[in-house]
Amino acid sequence: MQSSKLIEHADAGCERRQQDGTGAESVPSRPYRLVQRSPGRATSVVRVGNVQIGGGRPVIIGGPCSVESEEQLLATAEAVRTAGGEILRGGAFKPRTSPYAFSGLGEEALLLLALARARTGLPVVTEVIEPGDVALVARYADMLQIGSRNMQNYPLLRAVGRQREPVLLKRGLAATIEEWLLAAEYILAEGNDQVVLCERGVRGIDSTLRNQLDLSAVPLLRELTHLPVIVDPSHATGKRSLVQPMSLAAIAAGAAGLIIEVHPAPDQAWSDAAQTVDLHQFAGIVQAVRTVARATAPFYQ
Ligand code: PEP
Ligand code: MN
Repeated sequence: MQSSKLIEHADAGCERRQQDGTGAESVPSRPYRLVQRSPGRATSVVRVGNVQIGGGRPVIIGGPCSVESEEQLLATAEAVRTAGGEILRGGAFKPRTSPYAFSGLGEEALLLLALARARTGLPVVTEVIEPGDVALVARYADMLQIGSRNMQNYPLLRAVGRQREPVLLKRGLAATIEEWLLAAEYILAEGNDQVVLCERGVRGIDSTLRNQLDLSAVPLLRELTHLPVIVDPSHATGKRSLVQPMSLAAIAAGAAGLIIEVHPAPDQAWSDAAQTVDLHQFAGIVQAVRTVARATAPFYQ
């Protein structure tokens, strides 16, 4: 609260200096000053457990849309680790478009995520949807996800900014790049600079696919911000067969990683079945991503 107040006051001061034409001092050109990339600054490295995102080697996050059972989660977690995935995802609190849809197992799912971490060594990322749940989710998770529907939930952004766990901030359903960066700025302004951005597609004119994946956001954000950017090809397309091609394209565009929905029996998944790949497909995607990453890494030194 304190730090963001100071920033507002500083903003007002800058505007005044510009207006009365006395501004010999350098005036920050962008409204998101903590997340903006100053010339020559390297991409920030965000640590999730013992995994580094933004360090140059793409990190693949895999797991089910929703945690459904111990059997489902442990089978997925083992397969993610064996394939070379480095972080486990799994929804415990699900923000569903319909109030009648499955909304997650809550704390029971958090316990299962902690069990999967203990079994596999993979750190876990899971979504938090209410400020009042931040402490609970942070007790179990290694990274807190702010979902698309909550990108502009300012009390929630402030709440995750006031604690120390890293944050995965997904792009809002129809958010501009500037709105997204300002949402990240809320988190940094509260003192937490461990933020990873996630491009997951935006609502477009064509409903053939679930969303339109804005891949140009990846290199653009590299210019605008020091925060690492990953891509979610699952929610971006809504279509299983497109997850691998868009994963490869995202890595070629310079993404610092991917988050992919994977399930032992995707057609039986309780949520987002159509976009969920199986364990074998996931392993193939990781292999293919490594090949593309090796080829394109020299362009992103
Ligand atoms: C998710 O990753 O589980 C999710 C709900 O995604 P999004 O917020 O991007 O819709
Ligand atoms: Mn999902």
